[in-house]
Amino acid sequence: MLGVLGVSQLNTPLSQFVFLASPSPTSTDVLPTQTDVSAIRLYALAPTKTPRPTRTPLPSATPSPTLTATRDVSPTRLYTVTPTKPRRSTERSPQRSTPQRSAPTPSAPTPSDTPTVTDTPAPVVRTARVPILMYHHIGDLPPDADAIRKSLTVSQERFEEQMRFLAAQGYTTIHLVDLVTHLQTGAPLPAKPIILTFDDGYDDNYVNVFPTLKDFGFKGTFFVIGAPTDYGSPGYLRWEQILEMYDNGMEIGAHSLTHRYNLGTTRPSTQDAEIKQAHALMTGHLANWIPLFSYPSGSYNQYSIDLLKQLGYIGAATTKQGALQSSAKLFELRRIRIRGEWNMQQFLYWFNYWTAQP
Ligand SMILES: [Zn+2]
Repeated sequence: MLGVLGVSQLNTPLSQFVFLASPSPTSTDVLPTQTDVSAIRLYALAPTKTPRPTRTPLPSATPSPTLTATRDVSPTRLYTVTPTKPRRSTERSPQRSTPQRSAPTPSAPTPSDTPTVTDTPAPVVRTARVPILMYHHIGDLPPDADAIRKSLTVSQERFEEQMRFLAAQGYTTIHLVDLVTHLQTGAPLPAKPIILTFDDGYDDNYVNVFPTLKDFGFKGTFFVIGAPTDYGSPGYLRWEQILEMYDNGMEIGAHSLTHRYNLGTTRPSTQDAEIKQAHALMTGHLANWIPLFSYPSGSYNQYSIDLLKQLGYIGAATTKQGALQSSAKLFELRRIRIRGEWNMQQFLYWFNYWTAQP
């Protein structure tokens, strides 16, 4: 929903913001999906395709023959759906994945029907206040941009202004794996840590964000939707761009196969397809990839969390607003949504507001 900022708040001097009513945290939790998924609606979930083991270059604007069928929704050529009966995981132990770049286990989850009994004492819950900013598009708006697209798009000028603010305030960008490691082990973080995340894998992330972050000496985390990238859909990152970013110190995460479903309300077999096939694409292209996930539209349930854990993920980002992170909520990391319609005063107001929330 876009209702967080009323029209009356736009262009309001900063001094007046402190008198505004508190925003509703729940009003921003769900990402509007219509624009977000518009370019990938045509993907169907059907048998046969396995991820390419090789890094096939896709450099030209002319898709290779295997990519020309992007609009083909024939059920014979897309991704495999493996229907499985919904089963409740019995995993009860805390997340123990070590965040080294070790090869994840892509095998299917094998939940037991017998509850696990452990005598392990309850782990220490560690918390840290680390803002995780959530961006989507950075760059110019298309002429026909609707309100949702405008909200998802921060201009290059405004983005640079925001990065200058963070640098001037002494923030140090870290990766999600650094936060997870800190929450799990207490390993120290730099002073004023912050994480910059970019959802959906739009190609402006390579064209605009990547060079800007390099200019500032910053790191970013990019959550890629598997199918449009793998098919070379216009407007989305290509694997060679992702690899260049990955090889230059950027963190890459998964953001489902198609972004078509709210995982929290869809059936387990669909969650299996969306999560496992995206996972296979990532592990097939990125050596020593550390599995991290961002829930499409912020939607997930316990099945999603259990499946991610079974696949070796170390954490997942939500769209729940806030900056206080907990070792007990590694799969429910909170973020601060940065909206394209904000001026700099509004950015400062909401950044400070959400960073300070308990
Ligand atoms: Zn998304």
